[in-house]
Amino acid sequence: MHHAIIDNSQLKIKSESPMSLTKIYGSGATSVTALDHINMTVKPGEFVAIMGPSGCGKSTLLHLLGGLDKPTEGKVLLEGTPIEEMSDDKLTELRRRRMGFVFQFFNLIPVLNAVENAALPLTLDGVKPAEAKAIEWLTRFGLADRLNNRPDQLSGGQQQRVAVARALVAEPTLILADEPTGNLDTNSGDEIAGLLRKVSQEYGRTVVMVTHDPRIAAYADRIIFLKDGKMIDETRFEGKNGNNAEAVENKMKQIVN
Ligand code: ADP
Ligand code: MG
Repeated sequence: MHHAIIDNSQLKIKSESPMSLTKIYGSGATSVTALDHINMTVKPGEFVAIMGPSGCGKSTLLHLLGGLDKPTEGKVLLEGTPIEEMSDDKLTELRRRRMGFVFQFFNLIPVLNAVENAALPLTLDGVKPAEAKAIEWLTRFGLADRLNNRPDQLSGGQQQRVAVARALVAEPTLILADEPTGNLDTNSGDEIAGLLRKVSQEYGRTVVMVTHDPRIAAYADRIIFLKDGKMIDETRFEGKNGNNAEAVENKMKQIVN
C-alpha cells in the first residue's frame, strides 16, 4: 500500500480550493510569507526547475516537497496522499527510500572515499551490497577512476557528481536539488545540470531543481518562476538543451525588475 502511493512519484502541491500552498514563518508583525498560494503538479520522470531571485521562497518550496518542513496552509500530495499526514516514521522511510537530496555544498563526509560516500544511504539502511551499487552509479557518472578518492582529492564538479550518485544509490523516484551548481564554476555547473537532465531523461527519475541561474534552469523541461513567494509564470522555452537559456534569462530580468 505504501508503495502504491509513491511508486510513480507523482507529486502534487495543493490544498482544497480555493486555498493553496502557503508558508508563513513566525507570527504577527515580524512574520514572513515565504510562499503565497502555490499550486503545482510534477509528473513522473519530469525535470522541473524552480527559479527566481534570492529570498523568493525556492528553498522553502523544496523543503516542503521533501517533507523537511510543513506548510502553514495547503498540502503536498504524493500520489494522492498528503505527506503532512504521514507519521514521522513513514515520512522518514519515504525520504530515505524514495527521495534523493542534492545540496549546494555537496555535504560529503571528508574521511570517506567516493564509494563510501555514495553508498552511505544504503549503509545506514543496512542494505547490501551497498558499495557495488555505489560503484555502479559512480561509474555511470564518469568517476570509475576516482572511487577511492576522498572529497578533498576531488574537484568541486567531481564532488557534486559523488553527491548525485549518493542521491540515486537507493534508487529513489524523486530527486530534489537545491542550487546544485551554486558552488561550482560555469563548466562544472553545466556538467551537473546536464547530469540531472540525464537522470530524468535516461534514468526516468523525477527531478526538481532549485536555481537562481537562468542558464542552469534552461536544462529543465519546465521552469516555474517564483517572486516574493508567488508563482508568477510557468514556461517551456524550446531549445536544443531543453530550454533556451537566453529566453529564460530575459524572463528572469523581467521578474527582477
Ligand atoms: P530562496 O531559497 O529563494 O532564497 P527561501 O525559501 O530560503 O528563499 O526564503 C524565503 C523567505 O523566507 C525569505 O524572506 C527568508 O528570509 C524567509 N525564511 C526562510 N527560512 C526562514 C526561517 N526558518 N525563519 C524565518 N524566515 C525564513
Ligand atoms: Mg535557497
